[in-house]
This record gives sequence, structure tokens and C-alpha cells, in this order.
Amino acid sequence: CGIVGYIGNKNTKEILLNGLKELEYRGYDSAGIALLNNDDFFSFKAVGKLVNLEEKTKNFETRGFAVGIGHTRWATHGKPTELNAHPHTGVHSYVVHNGIIENYAELKKELIKEGSIFLSQTDTEVIVHQFERNLKNTKNAFEAFEQTISELKGAYAILLVTKEEKNKIFFAKNGSPMLVGINEENEKYFASSDTPLIGQCNEVNYFEDGDYGYATPAELVIYDKTHEKKEPHFIQLTNNK
Ligand code: GLU
Repeated sequence: CGIVGYIGNKNTKEILLNGLKELEYRGYDSAGIALLNNDDFFSFKAVGKLVNLEEKTKNFETRGFAVGIGHTRWATHGKPTELNAHPHTGVHSYVVHNGIIENYAELKKELIKEGSIFLSQTDTEVIVHQFERNLKNTKNAFEAFEQTISELKGAYAILLVTKEEKNKIFFAKNGSPMLVGINEENEKYFASSDTPLIGQCNEVNYFEDGDYGYATPAELVIYDKTHEKKEPHFIQLTNNK
């Protein structure tokens, strides 16, 4: 239902939780975050209100550079349980997703044959296993992500992070809304609607259907649906919540 993501040097946990709060009005049944801290990724999930997630993360402190992704879920495939809450995890990667992966059953069947272990009933979980499967046969995480996106059918806004390339957030959008904002400190904020970005950044780029790419502390790299690199189109974020 809602997505947030962040790359920068501020308190990533706070930024993700505050961002999710700004999306609460859209409704949700569970929530979760995954974030880098001291060179490793940590993930927390909770059913019900965001206070439950806050409670679970209250002793977890983030410092220094981090990347993080967060999600509020409105279940379409699989009951609203903690296991079905996002982020979904593979061996070394985490994904959050809004929308529906229509060909998930076919992909899941193949992945199980090849040895992937599924923990949830969601359509979303195929994304992270498909990505990790592709990573074995490609040169780098971006190539594996690009291949994964081309294999998905349906509507999605996706953020993915991986231990293989810890300073990146991979993103893709098709049919579900997503935008990214950048500020003077070169922090990057992703979200499924503009409310979490208000007050954090003035310049935002709304992704178009078929856009995908990655963000690092220094860069924002976007490709369009024809696999051509494109420049972000920044516009002023209007401050009317
Ligand atoms: N289809 C996914 C699920 O059921 C994502 C739902 C959403 O957009 O929150 O987990």
C-alpha cells in the first residue's frame, strides 16, 4: 500500500518510521522496514498499527550512512500476518512492493524447483528470490535487477536493497505510483506519494511507468521502459499537505 526509502547520513530508522506515518491515512494491515547499520542489514515487521513496529525497533539505533526501505501493507495475496508483511527476504536481499505480480505463481514454481525457500504466501516474495537467482548468472546487482523487472508482469512500485551492493537502492515502477526527492545534502527519499517528502526535499522526480534504476549516495540512475538511460525531471514539491 505504501512505500518509503532513504539513502543518506541521518537517522534512517526515524526517517523511515516518520515516512510511513505520513502514509498511514491510506490504510494498512501491517508494516515493516529493512535498513543498513554497521555494514549489515536488519529487518523488522509487525502486524497492525505502526506503534507495534515502533515498539519492536525502539532499542535499535542507527548511526552514520545508511540505506533503508519501508512498507505499509494492504494484503492482496496472503493473509495479514507478520510473515506476509514486507520487506521480504532472500539470502542477502530485501524487497518492498506495492501492487500485484500477476505471474507470481509461475515464477514461484520454477524458483522452488531451483531451490528457493519461500516464507510467505505473498506475490511479492518472488521478486527477491528471482533477483537472487539472476544474480548468480549476471555480472552485478543492477543487471540482475534489470533482468528481474523484465520478467515481472503486473503492477508494481518496488524498492530492493542487497548485501551484495550495500550502498544502493534499486527501484522500479509500473502502474503503481512512486517518486524520489533529493535535497542539498544529496540525501534521497523515495515514497509512493509525496506526503513523506514534504519538508525533507524541494525537488522531486515522479517516475513514469517502465522506469527503473538505482540510487547511491552520489548518483540517481534512471532507465526508461526501452532500456535507455534518462535524466531525472525534477519539479518543485508543493508544500500543501
Ligand atoms: N501484493 C502485495 C501483498 O499482498 C503488496 C500489497 C500492497 O500493495 O501493500 O503483499
